[in-house]
Amino acid sequence: MSVAELTSAAERLKDQSLWQTKSYIDGEWVEGSASFAVTNPANNALLADVADVGAAGARQAVAAASRAFETWKKTSPFQRAALLMRWHQLILENVDDLAALITLEMGKAYREAQGEVVYGASFIEWSAEEAKRIHGETMATPFPGTRGWTTRQPIGVVACITPWNFPNAMITRKCAPALAAGCTMVIKPAPETPLSALALAVLAERAGIPKGVFNVICGDAEQLGPVMTEAPDVRMIGFTGSTAVGKLLMRQAADGVKRVALELGGNAPFIVMDDADPEVAADGIIASKYRVSGQTCVSANRIIAQPGIADALVAALQKRVDALKPGDGFDGSTDIGPLIHHEAVERVDALVKDARDSGATILAGGKPLTDELGGAFYAPTLIEGGNPSMDLACFEIFGPVASIYRAETEDEIIKLANDTPYGLAAYLYTNDVTRIHRMTEALEYGMIGVNAPMVGAASTPFGGVKESGIGREGGKWGVEEFTELRYVLLGGIE
Ligand code: NAP
Repeated sequence: MSVAELTSAAERLKDQSLWQTKSYIDGEWVEGSASFAVTNPANNALLADVADVGAAGARQAVAAASRAFETWKKTSPFQRAALLMRWHQLILENVDDLAALITLEMGKAYREAQGEVVYGASFIEWSAEEAKRIHGETMATPFPGTRGWTTRQPIGVVACITPWNFPNAMITRKCAPALAAGCTMVIKPAPETPLSALALAVLAERAGIPKGVFNVICGDAEQLGPVMTEAPDVRMIGFTGSTAVGKLLMRQAADGVKRVALELGGNAPFIVMDDADPEVAADGIIASKYRVSGQTCVSANRIIAQPGIADALVAALQKRVDALKPGDGFDGSTDIGPLIHHEAVERVDALVKDARDSGATILAGGKPLTDELGGAFYAPTLIEGGNPSMDLACFEIFGPVASIYRAETEDEIIKLANDTPYGLAAYLYTNDVTRIHRMTEALEYGMIGVNAPMVGAASTPFGGVKESGIGREGGKWGVEEFTELRYVLLGGIE
């Protein structure tokens, strides 16, 4: 890759200063002793060499965040809110550039990337408003002559580790409430998507967020991770990513008894009952399953249909899946971008092959498109007739593959839907209100979309049960997550 080609990727940005490849520590842009490559999954082109600051950089960032915490926690919530609102404004003014970085780094369709930036910014706005509403309570006590009250105080330095599938929003969803609560941050983005994180740091700096409050460090997870999870000054680990890595970080954080907030993997059932409209349900499945090429934690992973609607649903889906166009995210006609890299294509293809070997029928797609399209592409795929014990049903697919299972009774459907260690999102399509109550109470999931294919918003609690995580992001719960509840008893009043 020549310097000229590297430059042309950067030139997509209207504001060239958003293209940063150094880490942001204590208000300075820091070089590393090594570097790593970032590539565009749509065409395999090298985008940038990004500095790897290693364990030393991580220690520097934790120390900076720790120093900054002493003043940031005492900054008026109104002042913190004003700075966050300024950051929010700058992000909205730069939506196109931030979206271009997302599409370049991880491939999603440009309009989806724009949607992500707006969604990510909404958490900053919400948290800024919420900063002014963090308060304690007074309470009755059994002791004569006393008064009791609680306060909510920022937990301290938060280390946050994020994935590549929402390289912008997974950072703002953690940082906005943490900063609003008075915490300071050290963020390690996924190595596939550091440029989006560093651009957020450029705008945080421009917004006037003080040095040391918001640090972004890039580099090898095995070097950075232990510093982030074990440094005594770090009081909380915020992680979004796979369940396997979440468990590892939880174990690392255990010795320091640090708080963990974990947003992990999912295996979402998308249930379509006989009384639903198959066309409406098919639209919902397309939105839930094929968005970001199926690489979201809340993607429909198993479509469970009652026999009375299954054929009509399959027909409605087939029409829609056949019409989906894979391609480069910058092409306006693209519906589905590439997967994150070629290993992901191989992994998805292995799941599809296993389904075929288990007797399932491939109704659409079912193969890589790497040769045809020149990047990490997989054909939009529709599968029917598999069994619920095959790999496709048991593991998170993280690709544009929908598979349909049939089950008859409510009890059978609930049993099938809950038969997984995950419990992040579930979807239920039905128009029967009594059934909605029965089934939403029986489904073991943190979020349930009833006749709604997308559940996340800045004002609502996002998170899972079982092995899908601990804690909630969004709404008042998202801010509370970054506070400690403290209690004071004052005696000797009477
Ligand atoms: P991943 O492999 O778990 O990686 C996530 C982040 O963890 C990356 O920054 C990664 O960096 C880092 N990491 C990995 N091993 C580490 C270690 N030993 N110490 C410190 N950091 C470490 O997940 P992914 O493949 O990027 O993302 C896909 C997963 O995220 C899916 O399971 C998806 O469901 C989940 N997800 C969940 C939510 C939610 O809200 N629940 C949202 C989005 C995604 P390296 O790559 O450098 O190792």
